Amino acid sequence: MQNVIILGSGCAGNTAAIYTARAGLKPLVIIGHEPGGQLSITSEVENFPGFPTGINGPELVENMKQQAERFGAEYMYGTVDAADLSKRPFRISIDGEWHETRTLIVATGASARWLGLENEQKLIGRGVSSCATCDGAFYKDKKIMVVGGGDSAMEEANFLTRFGREVTLVHRREEFRASKIMIDRAKANPKIKWLLNTGIEDVYDVTKGEVTGVKLKNLKTGETWDQEVDGFFLAIGHIPNTKPFVGQLDLDADGYIVSHGGARTNIPGVFHAGDVEDRIYRQAITAAGAGCKAAIEVERMLEAEGH
Ligand code: NAP
Repeated sequence: MQNVIILGSGCAGNTAAIYTARAGLKPLVIIGHEPGGQLSITSEVENFPGFPTGINGPELVENMKQQAERFGAEYMYGTVDAADLSKRPFRISIDGEWHETRTLIVATGASARWLGLENEQKLIGRGVSSCATCDGAFYKDKKIMVVGGGDSAMEEANFLTRFGREVTLVHRREEFRASKIMIDRAKANPKIKWLLNTGIEDVYDVTKGEVTGVKLKNLKTGETWDQEVDGFFLAIGHIPNTKPFVGQLDLDADGYIVSHGGARTNIPGVFHAGDVEDRIYRQAITAAGAGCKAAIEVERMLEAEGH
């Protein structure tokens, strides 16, 4: 029987692990299909407080893990394939094996949606990014491309004009999913160029180990052409990792956990932390803060119960 199982090894999960481990609760942290979470696919992190010259994303998240292990947190690789949250202790099936726990912190994150192109995947962190806030500053005076037609794409294209020489927004349709105000703001920005009814066929150049351009396709005429690009940003949505909790935790229409205040879910003893609930801020530091909140809730609950 565990005091607390933490699902996820990103900033939120690791911070929850540091706090609960320091409180002597010996947390069990499950490392899922994206070890280290979103930070592990970022290169340099310049906006996490405490690192005046920046820190490499995977290094930052590994440091957090080591910090938690120092206080007795245990880490285990595995995939949650089922969960029974109907009564306490909760039961979590990891790779087919059931584990019991008094409390649960769900820090499973939201995975960025990618186009799924082979070369796009190979160039993640080398010019391909899903986070303008994280990586925009690396593209000062460079050519930037943003893909998507939602609010994120509009917001990120606008934000990226602070850095780039030009920002091209590529969208597969003529109509946008984004709200009018966001579209108007982007349209009013003279540094944004628009390519509508356009798809991405390929990303170059894997042999150089960096993004140098993309192959585009006009989806109406079928015409294809190459365009030089240095920074290629995907803003085509995120997918929260909440599948095992459908029907048990309150989720919104897109699958994000609905918070019941602080780090609480609808089930007492189950807490949320990080991007699995946060569709707005999605930063390493906000996820770390959320992990801290969830850990404090766990500590207080177990203490009140005499564990
Ligand atoms: P979104 O609204 O789901 O938009 C995703 C966009 O990506 C859509 O335009 C979609 O095209 C496109 N797309 C999806 N898969 C694609 C693919 N395989 N290839 C090419 N394009 C693809 O996602 P979001 O913009 O991240 O926004 C998520 C939520 O956060 C929304 O509720 C949004 O309002 C909110 N948000 C709000 C703000 C703000 O108010 N400041 C900022 C950011 C996000 P189609 O339209 O053709 O499907």
